[in-house]
Amino acid sequence: MNTLFPAAVCGSLPKPAWLSETNKLWPQWQQAGDDLVAAKNDATTLWVKEQEDAGLAIIGDGEQSRQHFVHGFLEFVEGIDFEHKVKMGIRNNRYEAMVPVVKGPIRLKGRVHQTEARLLRARTTQKIKFTMPGPMTIIDTLADEYYGDKVKLAFAFAELLNKEARALQADGVDIIQFDEPAFNVYMDDVKQWGIDALHKCIEGLTCKTAVHICYGYGIKANLDWKETLGGEWRQYEETFPAIAQSRLDMVSLECANSKVPMHLMSLLKGKQVMVGVIDVASDVVETPEQVADTIKRALEFVPKEKLIPCTNCGMAPMERGIARAKLNALAAGAKLARQLYA
Ligand code: ZN
Repeated sequence: MNTLFPAAVCGSLPKPAWLSETNKLWPQWQQAGDDLVAAKNDATTLWVKEQEDAGLAIIGDGEQSRQHFVHGFLEFVEGIDFEHKVKMGIRNNRYEAMVPVVKGPIRLKGRVHQTEARLLRARTTQKIKFTMPGPMTIIDTLADEYYGDKVKLAFAFAELLNKEARALQADGVDIIQFDEPAFNVYMDDVKQWGIDALHKCIEGLTCKTAVHICYGYGIKANLDWKETLGGEWRQYEETFPAIAQSRLDMVSLECANSKVPMHLMSLLKGKQVMVGVIDVASDVVETPEQVADTIKRALEFVPKEKLIPCTNCGMAPMERGIARAKLNALAAGAKLARQLYA
């Protein structure tokens, strides 16, 4: 990436009303069969255009083809029962979700994201980034009645994720990102096996690799949880030193409007840092000046050639118009920062 401050979205973008229910984390599709495939492709194409028009440098598929960032992967895995979901507390019981159940040995049914990855590659000449859930977050978002050992199950998933990641690289994906919100919940597990599981995920890859660690979507359960975290959110402090030692190239983190002390970014020495400069938990659209100011404050701790302005997290449950305005603010703020701090 030659440009300074190449802006990117974290991952998900809102789905149009003709594709699925809106403003929901687990929306129902509005189409079926071939119509659903076509609608997913149309929505992907639409968001590629929106991101390019805004002026983002790294383009994603906006996760238009998956119902949810974790279950969208699991639907392509054999050994998981989606027919009889169970209610389970996830993210250390922060909220309850209906989750599928592992009933036997897991195996990929085939390619997971081939259609949208190839479509994305065909639709833009910009760098493209593709997201998948990380192993720790996956095992925290399903029930297990077969493996009986969460670490064993996580590594079984890591093997499947690695298989799909290698194929995505062959499809022309430049950056593969693993989303691990669970890394901000189970910090001891991160050090004990979470990073090793990610290493399994990226084995053999030559493209750039990233991990996204956040405080979750802007849903009520997450906002309530944040209220309990005190005046300073220091979860990153426990895991970043170990992540700095990892073989991952990039780290995506939450920053805008959060209580994360900015200096914790200095623990990521050597990594490219995707700094969250757009708050996804608020409908208030940032100004380019606010975005540039967050970039300026991050520059105290991240070298400018390693700073990628990004959204705090995905924007799936948001109003489409607000998400679009936030994309514009993100790109305009990055441009302003180039003028001011290059
Ligand atoms: Zn996130």
